[in-house]
Amino acid sequence: MKRLVLLGFALVVAVAAIGAVKPATLPPEIVRTASGLRDRIAAGSRAADWVRDITDLAGPRMPASPGDRAAVALTVSMLKAQGFANVRADKVIVPVWERGVETGEVLSPTRQSLALTALGGSIATPDAGVEGEVVRFTSLEELAFAGDTLRGKIAFIDRPTARTSDGSGYGSAGDVRGRGASAAARHGAIGLLIRSIGTDDTRSPHTGGMRYETDAPQIPAAALSAPDAALLKRLLERGPVKVKFTLGCRTLPDGESANVIGDIPGRELPNEIVLLGAHLDSWDLGTGALDDAAGCGIVIEAARQIAQLPQAKRPRRTIRVVLFANEENGLKGGKAYAEKYAAELPQHVAALEADLGQGPPLGFSWNAGRLAEPLFKAIAGLLAPLGADHLVEYDVGGADLIYLLPSGIPSLGLSLDATEYFDYHHTANDNYDRIDPQILDRSTAAAATIAYVLAEVPPVERIPAEKRALPAWAR
Ligand code: ZN
Ligand code: ZN
Repeated sequence: MKRLVLLGFALVVAVAAIGAVKPATLPPEIVRTASGLRDRIAAGSRAADWVRDITDLAGPRMPASPGDRAAVALTVSMLKAQGFANVRADKVIVPVWERGVETGEVLSPTRQSLALTALGGSIATPDAGVEGEVVRFTSLEELAFAGDTLRGKIAFIDRPTARTSDGSGYGSAGDVRGRGASAAARHGAIGLLIRSIGTDDTRSPHTGGMRYETDAPQIPAAALSAPDAALLKRLLERGPVKVKFTLGCRTLPDGESANVIGDIPGRELPNEIVLLGAHLDSWDLGTGALDDAAGCGIVIEAARQIAQLPQAKRPRRTIRVVLFANEENGLKGGKAYAEKYAAELPQHVAALEADLGQGPPLGFSWNAGRLAEPLFKAIAGLLAPLGADHLVEYDVGGADLIYLLPSGIPSLGLSLDATEYFDYHHTANDNYDRIDPQILDRSTAAAATIAYVLAEVPPVERIPAEKRALPAWAR
């Protein structure tokens, strides 16, 4: 299969023999329109309005919950009202998990309460809770050597999350949350507590997805707030510590959600698509303003602003906004999109996801054929006035885009400054009051600029698709 490429300009690009790839030279009218679009949005847009509507009117959006259904209905109306074409809600079958009662306490050496929250997907404890001595580890690697020391006890993985602007601290800590329960259960643990994957020091624990591996017993798993994890560590330095925790969460039969989709049709090549994605679902503790109503606001507003260009300046390709279902605990929305539109995927020229909070924008990540690099460098140049000209190669632009990788669709991610994002991510504090409309406007300006250029550059040549394998965990 040949892939349409956006990269006519590769012709005017010199690839130096030993290294640096030079930016492509964009046609002046594209530069003019893209710069005008960028500056207009950065000066003020409605992105925050969409975030406020989604968070305040729909509330928390666990897949197939009442809030999720409300968000689907709300965003369908929103896209229609803003003039998107072909607005639809494509049904997606999703896992359904509900949080219940959750309590935690230190029983000895002193009695005191623990702030904790169930990890998404965890089984419940017995009604009376699980009770046992705590054994602390600082990593999964250390836990692998637990031998018999964990039998009948509660594993406590106490791994801090590094504060980084690119979110890499979260990436490297995430394994503890995803795989910790099965790793501990293999050594006979009866429950798992982790230090929250997050960078704040408040007593607000961070939830997030976990999964059970098939070769280990299932044990209940919860995250402690950072101060509570620190308390356990201090107490353990004095001697044995006993804790008890209760979780009433449960998994229900699969339910129904939807990918919400709307198009800004291209003026010349409407069958060719530049996909702008974000996820509509959220965890239940807060209202998911940063994760990922912000991304929804960014992509909706970026597309809406492009649609407001004079007809003759509308990009030649279609801009398609996709608000994915069920990113947080299943990725079923991304999978359903790739399946439903399989026949159209060769006509997708690129997909960009916004799922790292509100910004400010730093640039974008990309995974595409080598010949794409000069064009991406040229786009990055257009983002320089926003301080967003940083390019990084990364395997996928966002979790919802994973199932597009085997089709070879160039995968882009909006790089947003995540220095503070993981203070609020997956907590009760992720609400609209965290949103700074001016910062969101800059991120929206970056997304719109990228999308506009990708949708407008002339189709001059084709390059072979570069198909990527799915990561093992997504197969
Ligand atoms: Zn997210
Ligand atoms: Zn999330």
